[in-house]
Amino acid sequence: MLQLNKLTKQYATGDLALKAVELEIPKGQVVALIGPSGAGKSTLIRCINRLVEPTSGSVDLNGKELTKLGSGALRTARRRMGMIFQEYALVERLTVMENVLSGRLGYVGFWRSFLRRYPQSDIDEAFRLLERVGLDHMADKRADELSGGQRQRVGIARALIQDPELLLVDEPTASLDPKTSRQIMRLICELCAERGLAAIINIHDVALAQMFVQRVVGLRLGEVVYDGPPNQLTPDT
Ligand code: ADP
Ligand code: ADP
Repeated sequence: MLQLNKLTKQYATGDLALKAVELEIPKGQVVALIGPSGAGKSTLIRCINRLVEPTSGSVDLNGKELTKLGSGALRTARRRMGMIFQEYALVERLTVMENVLSGRLGYVGFWRSFLRRYPQSDIDEAFRLLERVGLDHMADKRADELSGGQRQRVGIARALIQDPELLLVDEPTASLDPKTSRQIMRLICELCAERGLAAIINIHDVALAQMFVQRVVGLRLGEVVYDGPPNQLTPDT
């Protein structure tokens, strides 16, 4: 379903962040992307939704070549890519419910969410998602009243209300303590399993990746250096 073909990114500074990366992720599979800082993990995720423009190669999602889309079609395609961020990217002055609903507008529209009236069906769906992530009792709290783990749960619900074809998850636990990190990783992986949703989770904590995913892709200096089950990883991969 997701296919990267010879995906290459060279920044204007000359840094070759991705070198002809080949990667295929079937429907429903969760992949942890690991590797040292500077390996190209964020660049890879951002080339998929084209927050970063690849230099060459292609990204194909369910038969659509994302690398060829014009800006209108790209906006539509991005609505089906749920993003989850390290720093949550919530709108602090909005409520939990409003933050979740803002996912309906897709990636570019978060800040406009409060200007918009949502149909009851969206509100019902947002409430069901909040129940699933364990935050239904906090729907009316403002985002800035939440703990880190609670914020990330809102981020997860906001990504899922987009009815994504793919989840792009960039260091979801990097700002959380170890116990909360495990809870968040478990929740993301359970939800992917429930929904048959594919995900790429960029994560620097190898042990945490090993606990929850069946496939690990190791990136180093822009190249795939490992692709397999987590239990065959060696310390220097
Ligand atoms: P990771 O997420 O694995 O830490 P990145 O994708 O952030 O890796 O970075 C990969 C390489 O690309 C690094 O050498 C980094 O310095 C470089 N890089 C990342 N973003 C930019 C940018 N906006 N401009 C120039 N170089 C960049
Ligand atoms: P991470 O390692 O979590 O991916 P970084 O701290 O490397 O994040 O990068 C933070 C931001 O700076 C990103 O937007 C990234 O694209 C940008 N960046 C990273 N490396 C460079 C670089 N060498 N030159 C310019 N921008 C960079």
